[in-house]
Amino acid sequence: MIRTRFAPSPTGRLHIGHAASVWFTWLAAEQNPAQFLLRIEDIDATRCRPEYEQGIYEDLDWLGVSWAQDVRRQSDHFPAYRATLDRLDAMGLVYPCFCTRKEIDEEIARSPSAPHGPDGVLYPGTCRTLSASERADRIASGRAYAIRLDLAEAVRRAGPLRWHDRGAGWQDARPGLLGDAVLARKDTPVSYHLCVTHDDALQEISLVTRGEDLFHATHLHRLLQALLDLPTPDYHHHTLLTGADGKKFSKRNNDLTLCAVRDRGFSAAQLQRMLSACDFRDLL
Ligand code: GLU
Repeated sequence: MIRTRFAPSPTGRLHIGHAASVWFTWLAAEQNPAQFLLRIEDIDATRCRPEYEQGIYEDLDWLGVSWAQDVRRQSDHFPAYRATLDRLDAMGLVYPCFCTRKEIDEEIARSPSAPHGPDGVLYPGTCRTLSASERADRIASGRAYAIRLDLAEAVRRAGPLRWHDRGAGWQDARPGLLGDAVLARKDTPVSYHLCVTHDDALQEISLVTRGEDLFHATHLHRLLQALLDLPTPDYHHHTLLTGADGKKFSKRNNDLTLCAVRDRGFSAAQLQRMLSACDFRDLL
């Protein structure tokens, strides 16, 4: 039996890109609410809003998708994520990073051959080499800091890893694509990578479906699973819906939110047909 999840962030109303993603997941769950979990990924208090969370329930309900009860709202579980981070800290695999965006950019400008990842130039590791007393002094002086993974040490500890994508096949894990990833942000006590890895294991998700824009993140999630002794689900990254301009839909495409589609007079059955056929010409 497959157990899967849809994990939106309530930073705006759902648009048809989300609908395509949720439909993909709903079909993978064999349209069985018990196997389809909904998780609200709302750790970013500056961008997430309760009215958007409410909108997610309304839109999914209208679309004809139903989910297992006990929706997990990540903002209710910061202590659990923090405990996971503390485990990595106790293993000596994370370090505080005091750099500002400007300092990182300046450091990168000084080393033009700095390695690139899918999200841009990788963090150059400035704070990785601070001594214990330098770290303690900076923390004591009240400087804000993020927490980063010491990638080289983590990879050394975990050894070679693999994971499976239902579309792309077996993958040799390449967590180096994201460098010393941020596991806790300066403004938020945790980060997406840590929470999603924790929750997929906790919720016993056997198949993670999500957009291919997160394919590279899975390499890091696989590493975190190995470090934390968590099981590895199967993955299926789907292609993203794009508009006529080739750009992916975003929450800025207001006329393509599910509530706008509904207001334009389309029925859920019509949208379901479009989603199943991957043909949205009637909407555009
Ligand atoms: N919360 C993420 C988003 O809305 C999805 C994360 C995931 O499916 O792993 O893009």
